Amino acid sequence: MSRAEPAVRLPVGVRFIERDWLSSNMVLIAEPDGGATLIDSGYVKHSALVVSLVEHALGQLGAKRLTRVLNTHLHSDHCGGNAALAARFGCEVLVPAGSVDDVRRWDTAALSYDGTAQRCARFEASGVLVPGESLPIGGVPWEIYAAPGHDPKSLVFHCARHRLLVSADVLWKNGFGVIFPELVGESGFTEQAEMLELIAGLDVDTVLPGHGPAFAEPLAVIETARRRLASLRDDPVRNARYALKVMIKYLMLDVEEIEETVLAERVAGASVLRSAAALLDLPVEAAFDWAVGELTSQGALRRLNGRLFNV
Ligand SMILES: [Zn+2]
Repeated sequence: MSRAEPAVRLPVGVRFIERDWLSSNMVLIAEPDGGATLIDSGYVKHSALVVSLVEHALGQLGAKRLTRVLNTHLHSDHCGGNAALAARFGCEVLVPAGSVDDVRRWDTAALSYDGTAQRCARFEASGVLVPGESLPIGGVPWEIYAAPGHDPKSLVFHCARHRLLVSADVLWKNGFGVIFPELVGESGFTEQAEMLELIAGLDVDTVLPGHGPAFAEPLAVIETARRRLASLRDDPVRNARYALKVMIKYLMLDVEEIEETVLAERVAGASVLRSAAALLDLPVEAAFDWAVGELTSQGALRRLNGRLFNV
């Protein structure tokens, strides 16, 4: 008989909004003053949906308005709703301290949007989240941790009082996000390994990840993540292959259908995708062909008359 999955229990005043893979999950937390704090805001394509999901969840929580958005990191799928939410609610937007200058200059290269050929609506940062500091959310203290590995500037948020972790793309129920720094010749595997050890040492009953379902009792999940990390680390080409497929699938989730040659050009013009292709030891066109072939045979894309369709 298989063991039942441990139940996920959320404290009163906390809503976990699970999204698709184009958009990150969102966490809405009611504040004692009648406001509410949102963590992460999804991808720009669905920003109108984000606003309506937040309006609905505010009603469920009995909160009057959205007062703050916090971003774990500024990948396009985590902050694409910031501009629409700020326009709708006049809320504050707090970003990781390491990214605030990039936001103020709207440096789309430093923010990774150019390198990945992704989109994000420009927004203003009204303040910063500083690793090592504590921040009251929902009337209780949360600790902010630096969480490099997937993204050098990412953060995770831990509430010891509620034994709750908002883990961003550092830990999902099935793995973790692409280790991007390793694609461009920087260190990421070591940092990700340290993050898994850090999380294993925190008091956590429930994890609210950046993608996929919430889960309880994370130690078994961390063990699986350690094994996956070890296999990527043993063979960085595996990391690059995985990254290339994920990034192409991501572009297809955004555009839904496109001329194959147009997508190939877009990929060739994006530095992070080009770097991943270079790790495969293939010209970018050949790496693109390989990745599209893999995604097609896995049923994630369909190819017809020179066009690609998301499935
Ligand atoms: Zn990310």
